[in-house]
Parts: sequence; structure tokens; C-alpha cells
Amino acid sequence: MRIGLGYDSHRFTPGRRFILAGQDIPFDQGLAGHSDGDAVAHAVTDAMLGAAGAGNIGQLFPDTDPRWKDADSMRLLALARDAVEQRGLRLAQADITVILERPRLGPHLDAMTRALAQTLRVEPSALAIKPRTNEGMGFVGRGEGIAVLAMVLLEAR
Ligand code: MG
Repeated sequence: MRIGLGYDSHRFTPGRRFILAGQDIPFDQGLAGHSDGDAVAHAVTDAMLGAAGAGNIGQLFPDTDPRWKDADSMRLLALARDAVEQRGLRLAQADITVILERPRLGPHLDAMTRALAQTLRVEPSALAIKPRTNEGMGFVGRGEGIAVLAMVLLEAR
């Protein structure tokens, strides 16, 4: 068994779609970034790469590379899954905390979980996505952006 921790944060900006776990979430702002800004996909990707000893998201998908401009981050996650599988491992479990003040993610959690499960080739029951606010404190509290923490457990295939 191998364990990995991933963290990501992105700034809200007008004029972008708000995409988390590959899902389009209705909101008046989206997440800035070289890719689509999907902080959930990025945090899980980094956790999986870390757990597998396969480097990190910045090494594999540098934001200077035009290939990843506006990239669908669920594709990056699929590539991280492949890197994990190539090392004889697979995802056993992922526990994800999404920290944001607005919008409320409750109505989107099932779709987000299903999309992650499909990309990661696990049962939805292997995944948990837990939205939290930051009680009005700091950059998250001011609504400037979101932060995501992901912990994953890999097991031998
Ligand atoms: Mg990111």
C-alpha cells in the first residue's frame, strides 16, 4: 500500500467555466489556470503521482507546454492513472476535501463522484468528496478562489 497527498488552489476569475471533477458547475466565475483549472482533478492527480513515486503534476504537465493549454484536466488524471497502473498499482481509495465559500457543491457531488470513478476505474464507493467552507477566513473566505486537498491510497494490482 502506498499513500499520497495532493493539494491545489485556483483563483476565481470572470469569463471562465467553473469545472470541478470534469463537471460544469453553474456559477458567475470560473477558475483561472493554464488548463481548465479543475482543482479537484489536479489535487487527485498530484496525490496519485506522489503515492506512486511518479513525480508531480508540474513535472508531467508543465504549464509552459502548449499541449496543456485549456486542457481537460480529467485527461491529465487519466494519464496519472496510467502511470500508477504501469507501476503495478491501482487506486484503492481517495478522500477529497474541497474548500470554497460559494457556490454550494451539494447538488453536484454525485455527478462529480461518478465522473472521477469512471476516469479512475473504481467504484464510486471508493471515493469521497467533501465540500467545506473556510468560515469566511482568508482567500477562500473572501471568495477569491478555492483549495482542494486529496488523499489517496494505492494498492498492488
Ligand atoms: Mg492546478
